[in-house]
This record gives sequence, C-alpha cells and structure tokens, in this order.
Amino acid sequence: MQSKFIVFEGIDGSGQSTQAKLLADYLMSHDISVWLTKEPTLESEAGQRIKKILKGELPAPADPLEMQRLYVEDRRHHVNKIQGRLATGDWVISDRYLLSTIAYGAGMGGDYQQLIEMNQGFPVPDLVFYLDLDPKLAMERIHGRGRGQEFFEYEDKLRRIREIYLRLRDNYPNIKTIDGSKSIEEVSSMVRNLLMLD
Ligand code: ADP
Repeated sequence: MQSKFIVFEGIDGSGQSTQAKLLADYLMSHDISVWLTKEPTLESEAGQRIKKILKGELPAPADPLEMQRLYVEDRRHHVNKIQGRLATGDWVISDRYLLSTIAYGAGMGGDYQQLIEMNQGFPVPDLVFYLDLDPKLAMERIHGRGRGQEFFEYEDKLRRIREIYLRLRDNYPNIKTIDGSKSIEEVSSMVRNLLMLD
C-alpha cells in the first residue's frame, strides 16, 4: 500500500493524540511502518524557544504572529523529516500541523490572512481529520467541570479557535470532519473507514 501523510487537527481535548496513537497502533498491527509525530516538535531551535515560552522560562511575544512564526519555523524542520520518512515508504501520522498554527494564531488575535500566507508552501497531507468538538465538552474532558474565571476565558479561547477551524475547511483540501463528541471507538472506526482500512 502506498504510504500516506495523515494529520489530526482540532481544539485541545478533541481527541487528536488519542486517535493518532490508535491509528498508528492499528497500522503497525497490520505490519505497516508508521512514524507517529506531533507539532510543535520542540526539537528545532525555534521549537526550543517555543518550549521555553510554554514553560514560562521566556516571555511570550506580545504579538501572536511572532509566536506563530516560531511554529512555522519549527515546521520547516519537521517537514524535512516527514518527507524523509514518506520517501522510505513509512506512513506519517502527525498530531497537529499547519491548520493549528492558523486556528490558534487567529484565535489569539493574529491576522487570519497573514497566517494563511505564512503557512503557504508546506506539503499537503493526504488526509486531515478535523475532530470537531464543542469547547464545553472539550473543557470537561481536560479539566472536569471548572467554574473559575480562567476556565471561562479558556473556553472562550477554544470557541474562537473552533470557529477558525470551521472556516479553514473551505480553504484547504483533503479535510474530513469527524464528530469528536462520539466515543473513542466510534471515532477511530470512522477514521479507519475514511482511510478505507476496514
Ligand atoms: P487532544 O490531543 O486533542 O488534546 P486527547 O487525545 O489528549 O486530546 O484527549 C483529551 C482527553 O479526552 C483524554 O483524557 C482522552 O482520554 C479523552 N478523550 C479523547 N477522545 C475521547 C472521546 N471520543 N470520548 C471521551 N473522551 C475522550
């Protein structure tokens, strides 16, 4: 079977890591070589800076585009590795890719059009599974039923990010939307169906 480049996208808590791993396990159990990877890689120089910012060891740039530039730089390094793996016949499954940069960057106030432009020229995945989920449910999965102000702010942020994902579906090819509120087993079965693996 021809190797494929598969991506999982969605807001935090939508189940991407869970599904990326389940698909990798399924393929490996059928003797298909898989490279399971994620973004940010935190491996490149830009990735190291992202890591420090996320840990609070470096201040986050005030401009959301500045932060996303680091993600884009980290992706250049990632894409080299992805292409190397695909060339050897491995399947590549990535937990997040360029739609995350645009959705999170714009959701945090960055300019949508500029984010689209910054992300041009990257290889197009064979399939992107966008796991669509209500932010309220995502929050419950991540934190339980939080009540404090910071939870409202977080939920609000996820709501804006989801809106951008929904808008991005019209601008990018090969995106399949899956209802992320379904059970883990139902979602993974839909993923396999869409890949015609079952
Ligand atoms: P993400 O990578 O999108 O942030 P995860 O895959 O880490 O999300 O999932 C977040 C949490 O939600 C985990 O505790 C996971 O077990 C749970 N979870 C994932 N998918 C589902 C699902 N379809 N139904 C219920 N819980 C789920």
